[in-house]
Amino acid sequence: MHAEAGDIKHPAVRRIARPTAWKLALLAGFITQLMLIVFVTAIGLRQLGMTTRNLNQVVDVHMRKQNHTKSMVTAARERTVILLMLPLTRDPAERDALQQQFNAWGRSFGAARQALLNLPLNDKETALIARQGQLTGEAQPIQLQVIDLIDADFIADANDLVRNQAIPMQAEVMAALSQLEAETQAVSMAASQKAREDHAAARFWMYLLSTAALLVGLFVAAVVFHFSTRIGREREQLATHDTLTGLPNRMLFKDRLEQSLIRAKRHQTLIGVMFIDLDRFKRVNDTLGHASGDQLICEVARRLRQAVRSDDIVARLGGDEFVVVVNDVVALNPILQVVEKALAVVSEPYRIAGREIFSSCSIGVSVYPHDGTNASSLLKNADTAMYTAKDRGRNHFQLYDAAMNTMAEERLQLETELHYALERNEFVFHYQPQLNLETGRIEGVEALLRWNKPDKGLLSPALFLNMLEETGGIVGVGRALLLAACRQTADWHAAGFTDLDVAVNLSGKEFWHHSLIENVRDALAQSGLRPQSLQLELTEGIFMEDVDAAVVRIQALKALGVAVAIDDFGTGYSSLAHLKRFPLDVLKIDRYFVKDLPNAPASEALIGSILTLCQGLDLGAVAEGVETREQLEALRALGCRIVQGYFISRPVPADQILALLGRDWLAAFGASQRHLELI
Ligand code: C2E
Ligand code: CA
Ligand code: CA
Repeated sequence: MHAEAGDIKHPAVRRIARPTAWKLALLAGFITQLMLIVFVTAIGLRQLGMTTRNLNQVVDVHMRKQNHTKSMVTAARERTVILLMLPLTRDPAERDALQQQFNAWGRSFGAARQALLNLPLNDKETALIARQGQLTGEAQPIQLQVIDLIDADFIADANDLVRNQAIPMQAEVMAALSQLEAETQAVSMAASQKAREDHAAARFWMYLLSTAALLVGLFVAAVVFHFSTRIGREREQLATHDTLTGLPNRMLFKDRLEQSLIRAKRHQTLIGVMFIDLDRFKRVNDTLGHASGDQLICEVARRLRQAVRSDDIVARLGGDEFVVVVNDVVALNPILQVVEKALAVVSEPYRIAGREIFSSCSIGVSVYPHDGTNASSLLKNADTAMYTAKDRGRNHFQLYDAAMNTMAEERLQLETELHYALERNEFVFHYQPQLNLETGRIEGVEALLRWNKPDKGLLSPALFLNMLEETGGIVGVGRALLLAACRQTADWHAAGFTDLDVAVNLSGKEFWHHSLIENVRDALAQSGLRPQSLQLELTEGIFMEDVDAAVVRIQALKALGVAVAIDDFGTGYSSLAHLKRFPLDVLKIDRYFVKDLPNAPASEALIGSILTLCQGLDLGAVAEGVETREQLEALRALGCRIVQGYFISRPVPADQILALLGRDWLAAFGASQRHLELI
């Protein structure tokens, strides 16, 4: 939404591509199941076919066998009866008929026997039929002899032959036949038993395999269900949550805010919408890399989440922008408490990529129902307020008020006017002295930009410097003012203060601009100022953007003979290791560490170690923002020689500097703790 928001690569693309693996697994599952079903069906059909064939055999072959055997038994029995009857029958016609029948049964016996022989027989059956054949072969001549005796009317002899030989013979044949009958029956029983067993086996396999197929099917279905719900959930998560932090995204946030608004309307409560933007987040991304930027964002998300109640909403809108919604409150105070807490937790140190880094945020707050009654207007107004908070300096919050919209318009107006300020000669430098506590002399002045705006008076850089940076106008303004500062200092030299140095601030745009070296050289040449008298102040963040290129650039500046100072030292993340690589001259200790002096052990320790570091690297040190005598004394006690701040003097127009240069500062704040009053 604004220039500092770094673009964070989302891992979402990778996430969506992932399902291919389980899709393949799913396909494999389906194919396995399909194959199992085909296999089961094939086995089942085969088993059923076998069972059916066996049954057919039982029904067909064995039934036929039994029928034929039965026919043979019947025929043999009939022939026995006829044999017994023949000698007893007197009537020749009747006897003839009996003989006919005897022959007919003989034929039917033969036919049945032949039919039986044509069927598949086992060894025992074959042996029994052979035995019967042999016995029948022996019985037949006797039977023929009986018939001949009867035909010759030797009835008594025939009768004897029948009783003594033919019938016993026939009994033997009958015995063989009943053995055969028993055997065929046993075989058919065995066959039907086997058919039953086959059937049972087929059923077993069918049950087993179809159970397996069912289980696989259930498993596949469960897998499909599991993954489809998971994908559904992931899709929903992706659509409604920020992938980096897991916080709700803009869409879900608006939805939740709308719900909160409905509740608030019903219960007549207030809702606080906090628009949070990290300060200088781009710098983390640029200097420590995207991975560290991501880590910072995650940590901020975690801290914010922890700082609020569970029913409050914390969402990430993208980049380094978060939003927190404080629900169900009846007064402004609880909202402000959350705001303060958020500012506090975000500004606690972070440990990222093995370094301790500091961050802060700017918060804009809008309150329902005063600043809007729907999600969009509340968010928009909180956003507007956030910009104002940024303009007030970082690590601030700002409540929205309707006047802000007007201010936003004024901002636009300002931007236009800023555009013409240089050619209208509205920019001036004010100078703030830097005092050497040992000599009691002002050794240097820092040139600080002011915009002398006809309708508004003097404006401080906080009000327009960002804008000037964003539009790039700073380069031209910087060039013109650098020359002015050099000329001014040359004048002071001419007035007798030949040792006075001047420090000029450079912004990132100016430092990295290709014309930098040329501009500095021109300013020196045109003003006639000694290069040694010019000091350029850079913040750490500027050269951390590209350490190697910055080293080259600073060396080029040094080659011109000018001095280079690091401004706001201690607030950024320049590592001490890097510091050694830069050919620097001065470290300026940030006001942040001075402001709590004395009685601030942590700040004292830090200042102490910065001073030691300066000694070690042969750098000068300047403490900024000295506002009280106590701070000055504490700094002196710590061994700091050069101080700058309101306590010595506010930045003043150039024409007031001479008076300050001539003053005996030693008398004012002497080397001892003498109570001399500052004029
Ligand atoms: P800086 O370089 O850190 O400048 C010091 C700021 O602290 C100045 O604010 C100064 O007025 C203020 N200050 C000095 N002593 C005290 C004190 O005892 N207490 C307090 N509270 N503040 C004190 P100013 O003039 O508003 O400048 C703000 C910033 O704007 C500067 O911070 C610098 O970064 C930038 N700036 C100023 N002039 C220029 C310029 O010509 N070019 C560029 N690029 N940046 C400039
Ligand atoms: Ca400065
Ligand atoms: Ca500073």
